[in-house]
Amino acid sequence: MNDKRSAQDPFVAMVTATARVDLRLSDFQPRSMLVTPVHDVPRPRFPAIDYHNHLDALEPADVLRVMDECGIERVVNITMRTGEAALATIAKFHKVAADRFATYGWMDWSDLREPGFIRRTVDRLEKLVERGACGLKLWKDLGTSVRDDDGKLLRIDDERLAPLFDKAGELGVPIMFHIADPDAFFQPIDNHNERYEELAAHPEWSFYASHFSKAELLAQRDRVFARHPKTVFVGAHVAEHPEDLAYVSQLLDANPNLYLDIGARCAELGRQPYTARQFFLRYADRILFGTDLIPEVEMYRLHFRFLETTDEYFEYPSHASRQGRWNIYGLFLPDEVLRRVYRENARKLLSR
Ligand SMILES: [Zn+2]
Repeated sequence: MNDKRSAQDPFVAMVTATARVDLRLSDFQPRSMLVTPVHDVPRPRFPAIDYHNHLDALEPADVLRVMDECGIERVVNITMRTGEAALATIAKFHKVAADRFATYGWMDWSDLREPGFIRRTVDRLEKLVERGACGLKLWKDLGTSVRDDDGKLLRIDDERLAPLFDKAGELGVPIMFHIADPDAFFQPIDNHNERYEELAAHPEWSFYASHFSKAELLAQRDRVFARHPKTVFVGAHVAEHPEDLAYVSQLLDANPNLYLDIGARCAELGRQPYTARQFFLRYADRILFGTDLIPEVEMYRLHFRFLETTDEYFEYPSHASRQGRWNIYGLFLPDEVLRRVYRENARKLLSR
């Protein structure tokens, strides 16, 4: 084909032509020309519990209006406050509608370097639970910035934290881990990065060249799941690895005490709909509906469309800066899966 005649052939010329154009990436807003069915899903098939949200800045009555409009039975507020402020937040929501809200506590590292930290942490957990908290969340500051009194990064599987996880098991409340981030956040912010625009908007979200690699952070966390079989753990954001559902499947198989939420990861799941659908069918008892986005009617409805319909190539729910230039495909999950994912799995964890 590389002789002179074929190079002059109009067909060859057409299929080998490429363009180098200058168009600002932020100005490039293509619209899909596909004509495919659109199913609006105003309310979920079963009353849903949003197991991953952050409501600290919101008024309960405003959230309730959205919840009522789109069939959300309950929202779990993961408070980012600690101490008295956390207890006040629990009270603020529970006072308005104790059966519509639940609250996760937030790990307090403020006095880590003072003697007796673990004992105090265990006491704090007990107090949070006594006041109505339904779990405790540990965030990605653990493993990336929390340092002990030697100035060393605290490991997620540090043995000194073991009494906290044991206490959660004893009290019957789960520990939620969000200790890493999307794989792209651990890659250079360059032209190969699938979340380039998101990271350009939030360069501080990048963990590129952080001390522990993502694989190491996950390995530390996974050792904690195995070390505390009597404690229930929730792996936020599809256990932080929706990019590799085979990995998450192995993790679920190895640790019956592990659940996960799908918060803010519809795009990873919805870009691999065949694999994701199989994953939901197989682990229907372990997956929790959660959004991690400001409660808004359209946001919830996009989730219902994703989980329930056969719609193709549509917008994923996201924050304003978007995650990446992609669209998603519906999973058309069967009723028995939807019932568990929307509601029953969360109820099991909330009633412990
Ligand atoms: Zn969150």
